[in-house]
Amino acid sequence: MFAPDSRIVERVVPSPNHGERRGVARPDMLLLHYTGMPDTGVALEKLCDKASGVSAHYFVSEDGSVVQLVPETRRAWHAGEASWAGETDINSRSIGIEIANPGHGWDYRDFPNVQTEAVIALCRDVLTRQPILPHRVLAHSDVAPARKQDPGEKFPWDRLAAAGIGLWVEPEPIADDGPVLTMGDHGPKVDELQARLADFGYGTDVTGAYDAPTRDVVAAFQRHFRPARVDGIADRSTLKTLARLSAARAR
Ligand SMILES: [Zn+2]
Repeated sequence: MFAPDSRIVERVVPSPNHGERRGVARPDMLLLHYTGMPDTGVALEKLCDKASGVSAHYFVSEDGSVVQLVPETRRAWHAGEASWAGETDINSRSIGIEIANPGHGWDYRDFPNVQTEAVIALCRDVLTRQPILPHRVLAHSDVAPARKQDPGEKFPWDRLAAAGIGLWVEPEPIADDGPVLTMGDHGPKVDELQARLADFGYGTDVTGAYDAPTRDVVAAFQRHFRPARVDGIADRSTLKTLARLSAARAR
């Protein structure tokens, strides 16, 4: 048993799945997940089962109750194989929050208001303790675009941003006008897109070829920042939203 890091925590349910943070004194990323399981209780059990080898620092149920599984000082096991801004040991650098939702594989649904309010309160609380910049509040899909879709396009990042959590700009509306970049395209415009995505933090190789990994990164970007359409096609709305976000981060 350990003392919770936050007053928002209703219950501590210790998970054995954690270790020492490596190479960093303090976490500087906040990573949000959905559980991706139809049963909330089973999802929580899995995160506390030694055999599963996975965990997170916090777990937020549909009813907004918050459980802490791993102390913030410790390295929880939630990111898996991942990359952001050239770093690959995302677990050492991050706080992980699991949000109960069946996810795309089952019955992906809107996050209840009371749950979103609890996530907002918890994130704000974490951010008072840990030196995490807005552009490092991320989705699991951002750091593992080929493997992960969580917390997905239904997650209300705009509401979090309105509460001071994370980087957000109003997405450029989808107009279905002008050229798009898509699978099979080659050339300097693809180069430029890949360079912009990599500069933002995504683990994209700049190859000039719009291949499946590029499509997956574009889809991850859309899931987080242009959720009205997630198709992995870089249309004008996607490009403009990315440019605007990059500019907002630089300010
Ligand atoms: Zn996840």
